[in-house]
Amino acid sequence: MTSFKTLDDVDVKGKRVLLRVDLNVPMEDGRVTDATRIERILPTIDEIAGKGGKVILLAHFGRPKGQRAPEESLRPVLPALEQHLGRKVAFADDCVGAPAEAVIAAMKDGDVALLENTRYHKGEEKNDPAFADEVAKLGDIFVNDAFSAAHRAHATTEGLAHKLPAIAGRTMQAELEALESALTSPARPVMAVVGGAKVSTKLELLGNLVAKVDYLVIGGGMANTFLAAQGKAVGKSLCEHDLAGTAREILEKAKAANCTIVLPVDAVVAQKFAAHAPSHVVSVDHVGADDMILDVGPKSVAHVEDILGKCKTLVWNGPFGAFELPPFDESTNAIAKTAARLTVDGKLLSIAGGGDTVAALNQAHAGQEFSYVSTAGGAFLEWLEGKTLPGVAALQA
Ligand code: AMP
Repeated sequence: MTSFKTLDDVDVKGKRVLLRVDLNVPMEDGRVTDATRIERILPTIDEIAGKGGKVILLAHFGRPKGQRAPEESLRPVLPALEQHLGRKVAFADDCVGAPAEAVIAAMKDGDVALLENTRYHKGEEKNDPAFADEVAKLGDIFVNDAFSAAHRAHATTEGLAHKLPAIAGRTMQAELEALESALTSPARPVMAVVGGAKVSTKLELLGNLVAKVDYLVIGGGMANTFLAAQGKAVGKSLCEHDLAGTAREILEKAKAANCTIVLPVDAVVAQKFAAHAPSHVVSVDHVGADDMILDVGPKSVAHVEDILGKCKTLVWNGPFGAFELPPFDESTNAIAKTAARLTVDGKLLSIAGGGDTVAALNQAHAGQEFSYVSTAGGAFLEWLEGKTLPGVAALQA
């Protein structure tokens, strides 16, 4: 296990706690349209406030690139935050200097305040130590609960950890524990599912996973590149023909590492990339010249489910088909439901995350039952790629 301090290791009573969170929530017409990220940070806020700490929230929003951009203010997030927390939250319209100092000076133990977008300052993304010092002046302890921003070495995700006692918040802790149990010291056999559109965006991921998992199931558009590399016709399917050599290298690397690569044996094909386009199932050896593979077929689903039944751990990133277009969501839904059932039955530890995966699992009504679903996107993928995340490394220093 990697070591990092948690809320069990510090006394926050009466302390000014700088809590880095992810409030980069989707907004439309000034309102939060998906509050998942807010919900994730509530336990840490409640715990620190409940223990008598002053909770000072630090977060970025959008990409204002060091300028004060009103459309990227965190102020519109405040009502949703207050609603979910069920309490008043003070707001400072700058994350450093007099506005922040005044708001913090007025806080009582157990109060919560939100500081304006950290990316209004150039020093944030540059990880400027002078900017980190300015922020550090406002607090006594740094708690990082933003795993999803931990792949960036910014002042409030990395720099601050060197200025103040630094610990992981409960969301960060849950994420790290889930990821470690999935790949660092997993119960075996381990299956990784990698689906989605393109091999080119997931090369490092595939390379890292073949060395760590027992079964690597490849689905989605990227499976087409592997099928084509094996000399199969893929018609008009999404396919990166120029990556045939890379795909063959991954297959070789898997063989050497004793990792079984599982490719589709049948496919659902259509002639239009559209919802409810007329479709039929074919063997991957008989894809027609005008066909587009939009999902894996029922034999492939049964094969994956059969192997999954023998596995103890599942790591999932990317859908098996064009899941936004029914009926090409069927295999993703079916396998997600099977993984959910095995998880509920206590037979499988299931971790999923990255990109569209959360949406695909929610659409399948299976996300709730997974052991852990990461909303972290880029950080989750970088972790799966085997990279060191600077925000996490700084907590372990
Ligand atoms: P990613 O962001 O790489 O996880 O890719 C997700 C996207 O891959 C989704 O928008 C899916 O519609 C798309 N996708 C999955 N399978 C296919 C396929 N066979 N053909 C085209 N797009 C696909």
